[in-house]
Amino acid sequence: MTITTIRGERGLLAALALEDKVRLLTGADNWRTRPAPAIGLRPMVVSDGPAGVRGTTMDERNPASSLPSPSALGATWDPALVQTLAAALGTEARSKGVDILLAPTVNIMRTPLGGRGFESFGEDPVLTARMAVAFVRGLHQAGAAAAVKHYVGNDSETGRWTYDARIPEHVLRELYLAPFEACVREADVDLVMTGYNMVNGITMTEHGHLLGRVLKDEWGFGGVALSDWHAARSTVATAAAGLDLAMPGPDGPWGEKLIAAVRAGEITEEEVDDKVLRVLRLARRVGAFGPAPDEGKPLLADPLLLRTAAATAFTLLRNERDALPLDPGTIRRVAVVGPNAVSPVTQGGGSATVPQVSVSTPARALTEALAGRARVIVRPGCATWNIVPEPPPHALRDPDTGQPGVRIEFRADDGTLAAAEHRTATMFTWWDGLPAGIGGGHGTIVLRTRYRPAHDGPHVIGAGGVGRLTLAVNGIEVAAGRTDVPADPVEAMVRPGEIRATVGLAAGRAAEIEVRLQPDDWPQGPVAIRLGLVPAPDDDVMLGQAVEAARTADAAVVVVGSAPATESEGFDRPGLALPGRQDELVRRVAAVNDRTIVVVNAGMPVLMPWADQVAAVGYAWLPGQAMGAALADVLLGQAEPGGRLPVTLPGAEADCPVLHAVPANGRLEYPEGLLIGYRGYDRAGTKPRFPFGHGLGYTTWSHESAVADAPVVAPGEDLGVTVMVRNTGPRTGREVVQAYLEPPTADPGRPVRALAAFTTVIAAPGEYAEARLTVPARAFDRYDEAAGSWVRPSGEFTVRIGRSSADLPLQLQVKSL
Ligand code: BGC
Repeated sequence: MTITTIRGERGLLAALALEDKVRLLTGADNWRTRPAPAIGLRPMVVSDGPAGVRGTTMDERNPASSLPSPSALGATWDPALVQTLAAALGTEARSKGVDILLAPTVNIMRTPLGGRGFESFGEDPVLTARMAVAFVRGLHQAGAAAAVKHYVGNDSETGRWTYDARIPEHVLRELYLAPFEACVREADVDLVMTGYNMVNGITMTEHGHLLGRVLKDEWGFGGVALSDWHAARSTVATAAAGLDLAMPGPDGPWGEKLIAAVRAGEITEEEVDDKVLRVLRLARRVGAFGPAPDEGKPLLADPLLLRTAAATAFTLLRNERDALPLDPGTIRRVAVVGPNAVSPVTQGGGSATVPQVSVSTPARALTEALAGRARVIVRPGCATWNIVPEPPPHALRDPDTGQPGVRIEFRADDGTLAAAEHRTATMFTWWDGLPAGIGGGHGTIVLRTRYRPAHDGPHVIGAGGVGRLTLAVNGIEVAAGRTDVPADPVEAMVRPGEIRATVGLAAGRAAEIEVRLQPDDWPQGPVAIRLGLVPAPDDDVMLGQAVEAARTADAAVVVVGSAPATESEGFDRPGLALPGRQDELVRRVAAVNDRTIVVVNAGMPVLMPWADQVAAVGYAWLPGQAMGAALADVLLGQAEPGGRLPVTLPGAEADCPVLHAVPANGRLEYPEGLLIGYRGYDRAGTKPRFPFGHGLGYTTWSHESAVADAPVVAPGEDLGVTVMVRNTGPRTGREVVQAYLEPPTADPGRPVRALAAFTTVIAAPGEYAEARLTVPARAFDRYDEAAGSWVRPSGEFTVRIGRSSADLPLQLQVKSL
């Protein structure tokens, strides 16, 4: 486990005493590493996450660009675009004083129920690796460091702190380790974050085999292996296994205990030195020797880039009778319905969440795009929430100043005001503690606001947080209670326990709302307080209104999908059905309007039992801040929908190769082996609703020919393939050319075929385009557990080429010697 150092780091190391060295190996706080003034080292600043740069606080006053979530990026099948987006993230990070972005997440979507699946690029390791390498390169290009996560086997959330993922070595190598290996070997990634979980009986932070031997010795990783937050839970085992940096700090299992372990001879000083050298090398790469850069105005990502990316990710799955694009010249009336048309879910929950700069909703964007051309009628159709939605900011006033927003007060035990501030959000999270005397079971946080209802009638008010809560309206207590400490700390910021009341309010008559929280003292828990407030929904009425709007419209756009806090870090999804009465909404709208276009706003698969009863279906994913504008571009034909599925969409839950990912007695078995996603469907002969790789544009293509560079491929060699495609439709378009490789002999435990290479081409109507694909040497190989190495079967491989895993019109044979 030694690394090559650039000149100077050993010299710096020599200037440090053991105590100084060990100090550098635990964070200073949640988001900073420790400085070493004696050698001119400043703290390095880290921030989540893959879809934006949150910074060191979750604070609406410090907003962030909100990118499409990684499953949407996976849907672009466009590494160059992903690299450009990551470079924009890197630039934003640097401008906010952030050195290290805790991204990308390169775990594979093993099960569609994975709560955090939206943070992954897809169900295939080749697609994931290409996107991950591009992402890391983009961050590096901007001078920011990348931390690929979560190494490895953190493929679902239930019990993630402790479960033991039982994954055979060849499955690890061929599926789950592959994107990490690519990031190390091809992109020289700076950091690798270890997960909380165990793999095959050993906690990942203590995994000598996977951390030391595979990552560092075999792949030559020269960067820093850092722990996921609070994942380092032992002193000697973690240090000996190859963990380099324990986050967060200032406390942790190292510090004095590690110094004592060195003195006792349980860990050598050379091992400590190796970790420090890695940290110093990282510091050099991010420019952490010398003063911290001045934080100027944040350099946010270009909104147009985010809009293009969201449109490129939009995956059109069905388009009967050319229902799309809509021609604004011929339509007079459009019904835009569905809960997510009005309140879209633009990002997933957990550490990936950022306070967004802005959000473009489908309802608003379509109304604006069609202004003066068609009448747009907006109806939410039904309610899907299970935590009360936050009220619109414009309906709230700080009761003390009258400014839009709320007042947050921190009160000490005796009721005295310790601090107060005006804020414009209604959900607050503090990771690093509260002002002195508050939190930790002492003191109270008070959220006060004046709410002006737009409607007469009952309103549901929810007060959220972990601890003892009271809710008062116009000075009268309407609810009180204690909420539970959630199973995972991240839940506190995504869906903290809630007390509720239903209160009659009159339109235009302001109501004084007050939420008081005495936070519980709980280990590693952020403190959060939240206000939800909506008119009490009546689904029957809402459904009726949506259907009426659709009946008289030339087209109905139905935006359905996940509810807030259904896709998140910290917990898995209970099922794949759309929440609430959304299936009924789609069916009833489709029954009255034969140009019904359904847009699914979800980061992961959902069931679409109505898919063949509607004219068009598209997946918008969790597209970030530009959702509405990008959707309008695609639906009105300004942009071509560019996406291809990075994950199979099932016809029924029972068809999924891996449905449940709940540990039993702490063990999480991977009995499916290599047969996840389309590999499992193909092997079982099950037809999915829409196959992996599928996606339509606004033109059509024919696949004309495919030629391999050579008829024979030797071990260790890549194979070049040239494919000719022709645009046979009416518009210029972009096609993703996909190549899948079939081994010489079938083996029931192995996939029938697997994605080996892909590329994109653009062609005008009638034009031919040449696609150059490189099938990497590794695609031919399999991992031989007994030999402990990669081997290539000999015989005739078939390369199949086409537009999805289920539509592969071209094929060619190559011989492996
Ligand atoms: C998550 C990581 C994240 C870290 C810091 C952990 O709970 O698993 O992905 O980077 O928190 O927020």
